[in-house]
Amino acid sequence: MKALVKARAESGLWMERRPVPEIGPDDVLIRIRQTGICGTDIHIWNWDEWAARTVPVPLITGHEFAGEIVEMGRNVEGLSIGQRCSGEGHLIGKQSRQSRAGKFHLDPATRGIGVNEPGAFAQYLRLPAFNVVPLPDTIDDEIGAILDPLGNAVHTALSFDLVGEDVLITGAGPIGIMAAAVARHVGARHVVITDVNPARLELAASVADVVPVNVASEDLRDVIARLKMKQGFDIGMEMSGNQHALDQMIEAMTMGGRIAMLGIPPGKSPVDWSRIVFKAITIKGVYGREIFETWYKMIALLENGLDVRRVITHRFKVDDFDAGFAAMRSGQSGKVVLDWG
Ligand code: NAD
Ligand code: ZN
Repeated sequence: MKALVKARAESGLWMERRPVPEIGPDDVLIRIRQTGICGTDIHIWNWDEWAARTVPVPLITGHEFAGEIVEMGRNVEGLSIGQRCSGEGHLIGKQSRQSRAGKFHLDPATRGIGVNEPGAFAQYLRLPAFNVVPLPDTIDDEIGAILDPLGNAVHTALSFDLVGEDVLITGAGPIGIMAAAVARHVGARHVVITDVNPARLELAASVADVVPVNVASEDLRDVIARLKMKQGFDIGMEMSGNQHALDQMIEAMTMGGRIAMLGIPPGKSPVDWSRIVFKAITIKGVYGREIFETWYKMIALLENGLDVRRVITHRFKVDDFDAGFAAMRSGQSGKVVLDWG
């Protein structure tokens, strides 16, 4: 089969021929139809310090996918050949206290497909049947291929009650933009999204009814005054990984504000803890998706009119993966989807 492989410990990905994976009794084999390129895949392409430390070489990359089940292990129940699906890319253990309590997304032994284990940038993917998420007919393959990052957005956005709240999202990347769409969909009052990249802010405003703010030229205090908020934002979602953004967010929060943090800072970030204390701010770290509550909720949201399709700005045949990665690396794109035919 064709697969996009991290074949060498240097910058790049290579299309190679690999054997179709053999499945075990609890696995399914999925024929891949569409995949999404993630920021993580860019780290792996670039072979930065994190990637070099984390990713074994050679490895089939990719974790955002939609496809169809073509083979099932003998223990698999409740699924069928031909079932369209996406799936959770975090492979979890079942032994930890967290897993045994049903909090699968908190399992410390989690391994990621396309990061630690063979991934979805291939014609076929082996996945534990446990991880499969069947797709209803209402969700097509390209939306199926971006459920993983939509899940990050939904998990973060649903961390706190948003109804009637003023929400600040820092970082208008694909996940920040989708989180803004979710916040709007579930009934937030004002949804403000910040970035320093005008193209990303323009894209955000085209996907959801949000107030885009370029923090390179605008001050959030002016935005708070313009929107006639009394003190500041009730809810923050940090989705840039930029420490200045977190700093601005803490400054712009109201007393008792709540922050969900998805963005991954590059290293230790200095934070003025006294402001967090005196504003009585709650901060929640967010990792991945809740398995499988986030999947349930996001499919329900999509089936009830949540529309994130415009966050997909580029579509390529997989043989043109170079162009797809170039679009992602430009920083001007939204989601980039690769079609495996
Ligand atoms: P992205 O890199 O595409 O988007 C980040 C955006 O933040 C960019 O548009 C960038 O211009 C913007 N930005 C930079 N400086 C800023 C500033 N000072 N203020 C506001 N915005 C600023 O990332 P993405 O794919 O949308 O993912 C969002 C974040 O979530 C990333 O940090 C990613 O690493 C992280 N992530 C975390 C998890 C998790 O499980 N915790 C999962 C997926 C992604
Ligand atoms: Zn991803």
